[in-house]
Amino acid sequence: MNTTQVPAYAAQSATSALAPFGIARREPGPLDVEIEILYCGVCHTDVHQVRNEWNGTIYPCVPGHEIVGRVKRAGNRVAKFKPGDLAAVGCMVDSCRTCPSCRAGLEQYCLASPTWTYNSEDKHLGGHTFGGYSTKIIVDEAFALRVPAGLDLAGTAPLLCAGITTYSPLRHWKVGPGQKVGVVGLGGLGHMAVKFARAFGAHVVLFTTSPGKIADGLRLGAHEVVVSKDADAMKKHQGSFNFILDAVAAQHDINAYLSLLKLDGTLTLVGAPPQPLPVAVFNLLAPRRSFAGSCIGGIAETQEMLDFCAVHGIVSDIEVIPIQKINEAYDRMLKQDVRYRFVIDMASLKS
Ligand code: NAP
Ligand code: ZN
Ligand code: ZN
Repeated sequence: MNTTQVPAYAAQSATSALAPFGIARREPGPLDVEIEILYCGVCHTDVHQVRNEWNGTIYPCVPGHEIVGRVKRAGNRVAKFKPGDLAAVGCMVDSCRTCPSCRAGLEQYCLASPTWTYNSEDKHLGGHTFGGYSTKIIVDEAFALRVPAGLDLAGTAPLLCAGITTYSPLRHWKVGPGQKVGVVGLGGLGHMAVKFARAFGAHVVLFTTSPGKIADGLRLGAHEVVVSKDADAMKKHQGSFNFILDAVAAQHDINAYLSLLKLDGTLTLVGAPPQPLPVAVFNLLAPRRSFAGSCIGGIAETQEMLDFCAVHGIVSDIEVIPIQKINEAYDRMLKQDVRYRFVIDMASLKS
């Protein structure tokens, strides 16, 4: 198969920094779009993967799954896009499309495993997939999203992972008016969760370990902000939440949040710390609490989320960086020093 060499940034091992690296992209097939990548968000998952914190990273690793760009070429059977259109790609570039999950629009739970945008088997070229820290990507139109007009493009990129990963569980657990909803951790995912929970009409309480984020939490839409190290403040909320979304990237005491749920309340993890989180079972037995997880969202729901964002004027709060600052950005993310998503301006990779 014909390929084109494309500049990218890759990690060559779990301990090496990201550095310039050339990758091959396939020629677009009849159902493919070729997207010139304009912006790519920096997800904490990129850090987990690059540093092999979840095990299973294949090197060289080109991360990036919050992609917004412009269609350069479209295969002759592509119906959704034409050259010049904006397009976006999230965490998946394909799935089996026939299993019950895929048929239900839940491609992220494909029984044969979705093809992830990076670090997955590349069914076209062999080897493994490479993500959005590069200047272009070829993707089947079924896994490309339309970008509604009027949204800031750089601020839209993080919606493709941080946005859908928080939108989907808030919708699934039917968060809305009359409910008290907690969000744990004000990072890339957490700040989107605050915006969506507020937009859905819930009473929103943010839990943060960073006292310096209190004002931002309120500005982003939280009705109340609790510094989770403050035991008295935590105690006031015991047994009072319908739903809590936990978006913390590192080890933390999950029991402190389970005990905040009321009868039949649910705590859903979207954060994916590498180590197991011990659960004190008596925190679940009474009053009949649920402890759950959720993984990104399907393609149709991702489109629904983007359209919702356009109607409600929601984008991510971002700091745009050139790709040459990516290693510094990772270090800052680990120090919780990101307000609230780094987004790479991919023009920096061409110049
Ligand atoms: P992020 O921007 O780094 O935010 C994580 C937040 O966690 C921090 O801002 C911080 O908020 C809080 N935190 C508390 N203790 C921490 C500690 N010791 N170290 C680091 N952070 C700590 O990360 P993100 O991109 O939002 O991703 C969050 C997690 O979700 C990651 O594990 C990522 O892999 C996972 N993820 C899961 C899915 C999914 O489908 N389920 C999708 C995307 C990402 P405060 O300062 O407010 O405490
Ligand atoms: Zn992500
Ligand atoms: Zn499937």
